[in-house]
Amino acid sequence: MGICEWIAAGRAIAEGQLTRYSEKAHFTDEFEQDLCRLTGARHSLAVTSGTGALIAALAAAGIGPGDEVLVPAYTWMATAAAPVMVGAVPILVDIDESLTIDPEDIERKITPYTRAIIPVHMGNAPCDMDAIMAIAKKHGLIVIEDACQSVGITYKGRALGTIGHLGAFSFNKMKNVNIGEGGAVLTNDDQYYARARSYHDLGAMIRGHEERYNEPAFVGVNMKVNEIQSAMARVQLRKVVPMLERKRKRRAAMAEILATGTDYQLTPHNDADSAVSLTLVAPTVEAAVALQERKGIWNRLRDSSKHIYTNWEPILSKRTFHPKMSPWAWAKREITYTPDMCARTLDILDRTCVVNMGLEYPTFLMRRIAKGIAA
Ligand SMILES: *Cc1c(COP(=O)(O)O)cnc(C)c1O
Repeated sequence: MGICEWIAAGRAIAEGQLTRYSEKAHFTDEFEQDLCRLTGARHSLAVTSGTGALIAALAAAGIGPGDEVLVPAYTWMATAAAPVMVGAVPILVDIDESLTIDPEDIERKITPYTRAIIPVHMGNAPCDMDAIMAIAKKHGLIVIEDACQSVGITYKGRALGTIGHLGAFSFNKMKNVNIGEGGAVLTNDDQYYARARSYHDLGAMIRGHEERYNEPAFVGVNMKVNEIQSAMARVQLRKVVPMLERKRKRRAAMAEILATGTDYQLTPHNDADSAVSLTLVAPTVEAAVALQERKGIWNRLRDSSKHIYTNWEPILSKRTFHPKMSPWAWAKREITYTPDMCARTLDILDRTCVVNMGLEYPTFLMRRIAKGIAA
């Protein structure tokens, strides 16, 4: 966040049209156009959070009671909570060493009730989208990409969030584009867009949104953004590609040195040419703990709290705000969650460490730190 965001927010306030549906408002429309330009998506819809984006995407795709949605066992808990909010149940799938959902385990977890997959691009690391889209096609499943942690990243030249049927972005304070809180839905499908838009604005036909798409309004919620958010988001979005390019270069410089270490390996990457994330996987937990002691290592992924399914207490205990609003009661079969159900995920997280790329420091210093880790 900097002076440009400050000025943009001030301009939105000075113009005095704070809701996007004021006649003279323009920042939100422009932000959505910027998102489409950056990603190549046909439609984008700004919403108030990444969680909201996932829920709106599921609602747009018509996912609901009786449906099973495949989610990885390693992701921010929002990915597993979103299906619950539309009445579907999350089914947990192991990750592989790329730290993203394992396509082979997806196949094992598919049942006659599976409707959708939510692959999550974790920490700028893309999923194996070729394999995932092939499985989805074979089984007639909808793919909603959770690209909340990977805004601005591509997979084989295509923007994450635009490869599946729908995609979700987050702009919260931890993410590549940061406006405190915010999100967006992406899709190339006109009908999904019309439904997401209707859902995010209470089904408000009053605004004449939907007649172009011939989609009747249904009851929704309000997750519209205001013009101040969009003004700041436009500025942040301009910074994301240069920021990721710097990270990519830094990663390459450090990864080259780290590749020579012996008691660990670089995490495999589903699109190595554009890699931005830097993690190391050790052969044993003991080796990972030893690695963790070294200067320049941030932490072991096993310590990433609500990113690990074993810490999703409300989901594991199937607790909803009202007992009768329980998707698990509407599921077509008994769903059970146990702490050891995704043991492979726990094993990988136990052995994987994040490297601090120190973007605020000069490259020579970080090279030296990488040499220290590799030694
Ligand atoms: C941050 C995040 C979300 C939710 O985004 P919010 O904007 O915080 O609601 C969903 N999925 C993943 C993987 C995330 O990292």
